[in-house]
Amino acid sequence: MSRPGSPGVQPGPERKSSEPAPGDPVAVRDAIPPSGSPELALAELQAGNRRFVAGAPHHPNQDAGHRAAVADGQHPFAVIVGCSDSRLAAEIIFDRGLGDLFVVRTAGHTVGPEVLGSVEYAVTVLHTPLVVVLGHDSCGAVQAARTADATGTAPEGHLNAVVDAVVPSLRRAAAEGVDDIDRIVDIHIGCTVEAMLDRSAVLAAEVAAGRCAVVGMSYRLAAGEARVVAAVPPRMGAVDGTQPAVAAAVA
Ligand SMILES: [Zn+2]
Repeated sequence: MSRPGSPGVQPGPERKSSEPAPGDPVAVRDAIPPSGSPELALAELQAGNRRFVAGAPHHPNQDAGHRAAVADGQHPFAVIVGCSDSRLAAEIIFDRGLGDLFVVRTAGHTVGPEVLGSVEYAVTVLHTPLVVVLGHDSCGAVQAARTADATGTAPEGHLNAVVDAVVPSLRRAAAEGVDDIDRIVDIHIGCTVEAMLDRSAVLAAEVAAGRCAVVGMSYRLAAGEARVVAAVPPRMGAVDGTQPAVAAAVA
C-alpha cells in the first residue's frame, strides 16, 4: 500500500508472496528477501556483475516457472536508473531476471519528473531498498553535451533537453580540472545521484529514514565491470571493499 508522501500514481501489483517459485531451484538459490537491506541488494548486484564479467552467468529467474510465479506481484530489490545505451542492459550485466530490477533508462541517465516519479513509485510502493545510477564509459550523451558546450551549438529537438541536463556535470568536471571523458562520466554519475536527492523529497526521506540508499555505478563497456563511484549514505561505497571516487552529499 502507498504510504503517506508517496507519489500520486496508482499502485500496480504489489508483492503477494515472498516465496520463490515452487520447485524452481534457480529461484530458490537466487531469491532476495523483499525486506532486504540496501547493502544486501548492492552485494547481490555486484555478485551478478562478477558472474557476468567472468563469463559465467547463472541467468537466474528467467525460466517459465519464475515467470508464472511473479505474475501476481513484484518486489524488485533494486531500481536501476541507467543510460539508454544499447550495451547497458541491466538484467544482463547484473545477471538477474524477471521481477528483480525496476529499470528506468534515459540517454545520459538524465532525471526529469517522470524518471523521479518512477523511482519514487519503486521505493515507496514496492519498497525497493536500493537505487542505482548506472553510467558508462564512452557515453554518447556526455560526448554530445561536451560537443554542444564546446561549440556553443545546441542540438535540434528534444535532444537539447538531454544536453542541458548533462552540462552542469561538465561544469563540475571543469571546476575540478577534469578533462578525461571517462572521469567526466564518473562525475556525471555522482551529479545524477545528487540531483535525484535534491529534486525528490520523497527519495531523500526514504534515504534519511534508512529504508533506501542511492549508489552511482560506472560501467566499462569492454570489461563489463560496474564499480561504485558515488554513494548515499557514504558507507554504501565500501560494500565491495572500495571507497567511492565521488562522494555525494547526504540529502
Ligand atoms: Zn550513455
